[in-house]
Amino acid sequence: MYILLMGPPGAGKGTQAANLVEKYGLPHISTGDMFRAAVKEGTALGKEAKACMDAGKLVPDEVTIGIVQERLAKPDCAKGFILDGFPRTVAQADALKGILKELGFSLTRVVDISVPNEALVERVVGRRICKTCGATYHIKFHPAKQDGVCDTCGGETYQRADDREETIKERLSVYDAQTKPLIDYYQKAGLYSRIDGSQSMEKVFADVEAALQMCGQNV
Ligand code: ADP
Ligand code: ADP
Ligand code: ZN
Repeated sequence: MYILLMGPPGAGKGTQAANLVEKYGLPHISTGDMFRAAVKEGTALGKEAKACMDAGKLVPDEVTIGIVQERLAKPDCAKGFILDGFPRTVAQADALKGILKELGFSLTRVVDISVPNEALVERVVGRRICKTCGATYHIKFHPAKQDGVCDTCGGETYQRADDREETIKERLSVYDAQTKPLIDYYQKAGLYSRIDGSQSMEKVFADVEAALQMCGQNV
């Protein structure tokens, strides 16, 4: 299955990607995670990405497309992948089309997790991530058993530098302006499913799975 998860910041893409990884064993490819890893390593890519991320802006298309192209060509993607947070612009979607064609893959489904903006601010500001294994928590909706400590690996949890109220507003308006046009793009391609992301995490996952069933022989 070649799955694309879309949705505004805080919609639950990463949370649902983790469920899909557990169930199907496909690689989870998150451009946000890749940029954060580059920032941590202090590479040139990381330096460029950090400035954009901290401002709540998108990293330039050429840079983003390049890292995705490289990643999708790795052998573990041959049987499928869960692409999370890419594409975020029409130019990225066009580039993805070319990359997939070259690799001989075709998208199974585009699942858009939809949540109203008012709810997203609380989701993003309360998000905490494990430094060691990347597990995602929420101070109110999905708290770790012991504050600041990951349930799974005992690692320390932290708040992303861009998960602040000031930045989230900019990220949401960037999403509306640059990523929302992809709804129409994938609707026209007959690949689009919208899901109500304001339900419980379990119910959202059930709906993600139902959307994946809509693609017949590709599943
Ligand atoms: P969110 O949890 O808000 O969906 P991500 O972790 O996917 O955030 O992305 C964090 C930041 O990384 C974005 O605000 C943006 O600066 C950058 N980024 C991630 N994916 C892309 C992309 N496809 N194109 C451009 N920038 C991206
Ligand atoms: P995204 O990857 O789309 O930015 P995340 O999966 O990181 O979103 O989720 C954002 C925050 O909201 C996290 O703290 C997560 O624990 C929480 N969250 C995810 N799904 C739900 C849900 N259905 N209900 C309540 N909180 C949720
Ligand atoms: Zn952990």
